[in-house]
Amino acid sequence: MGLAAAYHALQAGHDVTVFEADRVAGGMAAHFDFDGLSIERFYHFVCKADQPTFDLMRELGIADRMVWRGTSMGYFIDGKHYRWGDPLALLAFPRLGLISKIRYGLHMFLSTKRTDWSALENVNAKEWFRKWGGRRAYDVLWKRLFDLKFFEFADNISAAWIWTRIKRVGTSRASMLQEELGYIDGGSQTLVDALVEAIAERGGTLKLGARVSEVTSRQGRVTGVIADDAAQAFDAVISTVPTPFVSKLVPGLSAEAKARYDAIRNIGVVCVLLKLAKPVTGHFWLNVNDTTIDIPGIVEFSNLRKLPNTIVYVPYYMPQTHPKFGRGSEAFVTEAFGYLRKLNPALQPGDLLASHVGRLNHAQPVCEPGFLSKIPKVQTEIRGLQIADTCFYYPEDRGISESVRYGKLMAQAIADPGVWRAEGR
Ligand SMILES: Cc1cc2nc3c(=O)[nH]c(=O)nc-3n(C[C@H](O)[C@H](O)[C@H](O)COP(=O)(O)OP(=O)(O)OC[C@H]3O[C@@H](n4cnc5c(N)ncnc54)[C@H](O)[C@@H]3O)c2cc1C
Repeated sequence: MGLAAAYHALQAGHDVTVFEADRVAGGMAAHFDFDGLSIERFYHFVCKADQPTFDLMRELGIADRMVWRGTSMGYFIDGKHYRWGDPLALLAFPRLGLISKIRYGLHMFLSTKRTDWSALENVNAKEWFRKWGGRRAYDVLWKRLFDLKFFEFADNISAAWIWTRIKRVGTSRASMLQEELGYIDGGSQTLVDALVEAIAERGGTLKLGARVSEVTSRQGRVTGVIADDAAQAFDAVISTVPTPFVSKLVPGLSAEAKARYDAIRNIGVVCVLLKLAKPVTGHFWLNVNDTTIDIPGIVEFSNLRKLPNTIVYVPYYMPQTHPKFGRGSEAFVTEAFGYLRKLNPALQPGDLLASHVGRLNHAQPVCEPGFLSKIPKVQTEIRGLQIADTCFYYPEDRGISESVRYGKLMAQAIADPGVWRAEGR
């Protein structure tokens, strides 16, 4: 979001400096060297609805780097694998009665056709699923996914938020029976690199390892930032850091405004990445509902992006207060590989070729029913200061496409704050 904002602000003729705390650019979308392979710390797939990503890639001259691939989804329930993700798979699914399946299928189908989410804004996701598909369908298909991602927040998630996720993935298809997902050739780093290059070409400055400790203001107007103990003056500041950092970062905000940022909760993620000698499944995504496996699913990334080895992400989302969150990396790798061996008993200890554990304290905003009213205005009460992160484009889920769209809007709003009125934010 920050890089996109910088790029568009330069296009609009502003002088721009980007301060990035990390040693590399790209935030959640950045790559690292995984045993000789450049790959995302956190998996990234693209859906057909991600128009802002395609628009930006075209502008940057890398539209030809999008790759689409027929993918499939599976479900592992109580020790057995099931095909999932299309009407025939649902009909063949033995764990629900015919009526449940029809109700569930209708719910999913109509969700992909829905455009107005206002009626879902104050609805609880659990109640929404139960109302449409029934209790059993919720318990078999969704309960554990919510419980093992959101833990104590699981029963209080917005139906509007989960609906956008169903719609985004559900409409990324080549046909009714074939899911089709995308990836950027070379990974999301291709987009990050193109943005960094475009920023440099237009005279922007990107400072890496430059943590902003304060956004300064005087008499209700932004004056600049403090980074590395040095104050630097700017006429406008755009902050795209996670919301939980904001109240400390901007002392000039009123107590009421700070309380609004502090009220938005995020869960963290410990994302285990494994390189294997054998595939685990034929699917890109496998949902898991098995009492002996304490994860809601795995992402077998090499079933999307063609790679020389099997690459699997095992994301452990959880509140930062969860006792597991502080565990050492070794414990996560051992457990995750153990789970994969349950999913595919043909995997042997020698099949684990390399591993990595990526951690984020603020990986996913928790959007409860009525979340829209909790989101602060992007244009803050401090003139010249805009603040957004991935929860601001709710009900859309955190993702590259919406983040780059918001980056563009923030750049436009430097000269025209009316942009946010039009957006309703
Ligand atoms: C596990 C996981 C899976 C995901 N899967 C997908 C997917 O499949 N598809 C998809 O589209 N998206 C996915 N995403 C989301 C996607 O990565 C993000 O939405 C996207 O990268 C945009 O992020 P952002 O710029 O809004 O925020 P971030 O990437 O969080 O950027 C915020 C930046 O602020 C920097 N920062 C923080 N504090 C300071 C400070 N004080 N001073 C300076 N800099 C600071 C951080 O270092 C970071 O670089 C996934 C994310 C995760 C965690």
